[in-house]
Amino acid sequence: MRFEHVLVVGAGQMGGGIAQTFAASGRRVSLHDPYPGATERARATMEKSLTRLAEKGADLDAAAVLGRIEPAGDLVPADLMVEAAVEDAEVKKDIFRRADATLPPEAILASNTSSIPIATLAAETSRRDKVIGMHFFNPVPVMTLVEVVRTPQTSDETAAAVVELARELGKTPAEANDFPGFVSNRILMPYINEAVWALHEGVAEPEAIDTIAKLGFNHPMGPLALADLIGLDTCVAILEVLEAGLGDARYSPCPLLREHVDAGRLGRKSGQGFYSY
Ligand code: NAD
Repeated sequence: MRFEHVLVVGAGQMGGGIAQTFAASGRRVSLHDPYPGATERARATMEKSLTRLAEKGADLDAAAVLGRIEPAGDLVPADLMVEAAVEDAEVKKDIFRRADATLPPEAILASNTSSIPIATLAAETSRRDKVIGMHFFNPVPVMTLVEVVRTPQTSDETAAAVVELARELGKTPAEANDFPGFVSNRILMPYINEAVWALHEGVAEPEAIDTIAKLGFNHPMGPLALADLIGLDTCVAILEVLEAGLGDARYSPCPLLREHVDAGRLGRKSGQGFYSY
């Protein structure tokens, strides 16, 4: 098996799901998050997710999956790092600098960033050919897409190995080049932001906006419920990267989105966003 030992950095919604997915594929996972209680919360979420998947008929041994995930007090050597910390370029750059010094030279360093240019993370390392975006979707154990993002310096070998790895995880890889927001969030975030503007301007109530998108566009969930699932802080961070990176004010986050974030209403993960959970 390739990448037998994976280091996942950041144990939030995404990091926990990524750790669970690698462990379910039989790999050993070290999960690092410097914030107290983060890996414990991730474990509790994984337990719930594994129970739900088993109830739906998935063939998995929950105890064995959890047994392959160990919390790590710091970055540790591994065959692959997948970084899933907060969407903050400075935090991610620091992690890539430290990972470059900790993981063996042949290890691949991947980021699950939604929008931050992969090249800016690669520039912090001495192995730009082995740095790549491995962008999973939420909830990771359920969503089958992995957006594989390569910079001009990412080698063909690195890209091929990560594409193959995504397939081994039961996912469908789709390759994109390193532009702000890549493909997925360049399309998704303006859509979510426009829905928030519609709410802000009193065009309709949240339920009506989401019903119109669900039934009118045949989407499984409306844009406001999706924003709550992604995290409103993450949505603001992505829109800021799009605005700065593409140099266009139309990506600027709607004031209502910022208002929620400033008040700590981050969506599902904080129990309150456009809806209550
Ligand atoms: P989250 O807020 O749930 O979790 C972020 C985690 O990062 C927290 O547990 C926090 O303690 C940790 N963290 C902060 N500083 C750190 C550091 N220096 N080292 C290690 N960990 C640190 O956020 P999330 O939704 O899991 O998003 C994580 C990443 O995944 C972001 O880059 C985001 O853009 C990306 N992403 C999110 C989604 C989504 O739907 N939420 C989808 C795809 C990608």
